[in-house]
Amino acid sequence: DKQMLMTISEQLNTLNRPLVSVEFFPPKTEKARATFDESASALRELHFDFSSVTCGAGGSADGQTLTICEALKADGYQSVMPHLTCVGASREQIGRAVDEIVEHGFRNIMALRGDPPRGEQSFTPAPDGFRHAAELVAFIKDRQPEICLGVAGYPEGHPEAVSAEADIRYLKEKVDAGADFITTQLFLHNHVYFDFVEECRAAGITVPIVPGLLPVISLKQVTRMLDFCKFHLPAELLTRLEAANGDPARMERVGVYWAIEQITGLIEGGAPGIHLYLLNRAQTAFFPELFACLARVRGV
Ligand code: FAD
Repeated sequence: DKQMLMTISEQLNTLNRPLVSVEFFPPKTEKARATFDESASALRELHFDFSSVTCGAGGSADGQTLTICEALKADGYQSVMPHLTCVGASREQIGRAVDEIVEHGFRNIMALRGDPPRGEQSFTPAPDGFRHAAELVAFIKDRQPEICLGVAGYPEGHPEAVSAEADIRYLKEKVDAGADFITTQLFLHNHVYFDFVEECRAAGITVPIVPGLLPVISLKQVTRMLDFCKFHLPAELLTRLEAANGDPARMERVGVYWAIEQITGLIEGGAPGIHLYLLNRAQTAFFPELFACLARVRGV
């Protein structure tokens, strides 16, 4: 299969249709692993163009990312992208991690600085480690030039950003260092994405900018996420979620319909794909309306 041999950047640049991708995280318990296995197996039916696996937040990376990438590959997932952060790792350790990823046959890496470990307020680079994702990008490109690199973008600003302009300037540094595409943090209003893309283009960033989308499943979930990522919760969505509070199935429907509206608008507006934050949960994607919407997006 030719598509299997393509990097994500090649897929984005040659397939001439939007990509649909999904993000998983390494489960931490046996029970969570069972849920992951079930979800991954069920979600195969969506034929994602690629999937990605996060790297333990706050320096808890312990090799699980690659294990989960291998599990997805064994389950038939074609293009799998491990995330890699700079948290708690020296250059030498990162170098080895990059080589290992390549030895396992993966051709894409999502390159991130990562968040400070739990309880720490600001990011402290490891001794001989990297301070910013741009340094990681340059390092990987130098060591493994064939690897396709994704980086994170923040349409509503990174929580530590001094200004929107500075944030975009640093994003451009990542692209200039060799990033091939950008995946965004979640946002719940499409104009946020379109404005961000416009600002990026004006700043000379030309790579594809893939919108990251969270189908909200509950009020609790979305408010918890506001603790660690910066995004605007639309009043209308809040009202609808509040009206459905106490009825999980109805709340999830609210989120799914919101996501469908977002996806439809994003694709109509020219987004190069949709990256879904499903949080290892397959159920949401099997709402028939969302399932059909995603199939329509891929158009295959
Ligand atoms: P950077 O691009 O380095 O930016 C971090 C901050 O530093 C920003 O405020 C930026 O403006 C500023 N900055 C950048 N360069 C400079 C400079 N030269 N001088 C001064 N300031 C600068 N976290 C995980 O732990 N594991 C994951 O798997 C993971 N996956 C993610 C996937 C996506 C798509 C997204 C959007 C985020 C993900 N994160 C993940 C979260 C991410 O690690 C955090 O948001 C982290 O705080 C910043 O990482 P970054 O790569 O964006 O950092």
